[in-house]
Amino acid sequence: MEYQKASERNVHVNGSGKLGTEFHCRNGRNEHSVEAKKALVQSKNETSHREAEDESRLQAIEAAYTTILRGLGENTDRQGLLRTPLRAAKAMQFLTKGYHETIYDILNDAIFDEDHDEMVIVKEIDVFSLCEHHLVPFFGKVHIGYLPNKKVVGLSKLARIVEIYSRRLQVQERLTKQIAMAISEALQPAGVAVVIEAAHMCMVMRGVQKMNSRTVTSAMLGVFREDPKTREEFLALTKRD
Ligand SMILES: [Zn+2]
Repeated sequence: MEYQKASERNVHVNGSGKLGTEFHCRNGRNEHSVEAKKALVQSKNETSHREAEDESRLQAIEAAYTTILRGLGENTDRQGLLRTPLRAAKAMQFLTKGYHETIYDILNDAIFDEDHDEMVIVKEIDVFSLCEHHLVPFFGKVHIGYLPNKKVVGLSKLARIVEIYSRRLQVQERLTKQIAMAISEALQPAGVAVVIEAAHMCMVMRGVQKMNSRTVTSAMLGVFREDPKTREEFLALTKRD
């Protein structure tokens, strides 16, 4: 992951991650109010309830994987496959855990008042997701830019937002839009831009077998949509060298 900020138009400052730390130190508020503590207790209760629910669903998913393996003509009693249904069920639950997470869980303490009004870009965030049509992975890089309007977010949180929406069954277009909308709602910035470049295993491994094909999707909101210059600046800054 690479951090980059454009301090002025056409001037590129390579922050190499320092920008994030700076924001945290200057404005970090770590004290928990009573309300925040209540919310924390509530969210812990919800977590333990959810874990119990996941546990009971695990058995159903495990049984389903046994059925799938037998449907493929496999002998599920052979040694290598004995624990495969359980492992596959756990893996699938992990890969879709984003359904249980909201941006409010992770952004609670991470939004800061800041007069910074230049574009903030975090590029090349790794993304791994599952195509909802074939249940196979698609993965690649996400570039996120936003133009703050009095509020900024801890930079590492942008990667966490990507994770929340990518750990679900997805289509790349929707994933791109959901990330942009989440940032827009949380920060109310002047604009948000999200670009995802990804390789889809359903294309690479089957059917057309285009090894090096990449799918590129973008979502532009606010000034990134309205102002071609802002959009171009973002695209130039996120272009691969
Ligand atoms: Zn697919």
